[in-house]
Amino acid sequence: MVTTTEKDGATWYRCEECEMLFDVESDAEAHEENCDTDSPSYLQ
Ligand SMILES: [Zn+2]
Repeated sequence: MVTTTEKDGATWYRCEECEMLFDVESDAEAHEENCDTDSPSYLQ
């Protein structure tokens, strides 16, 4: 899931699966839907 984190006075959105950071919430959510850390076969 996506969590928020404060860094340098700005809010970032972090994918809990791979810990990638995004500055736009919708980008983080779109990534999280396609993040295949848990189930690599999901997209195939
Ligand atoms: Zn991810």
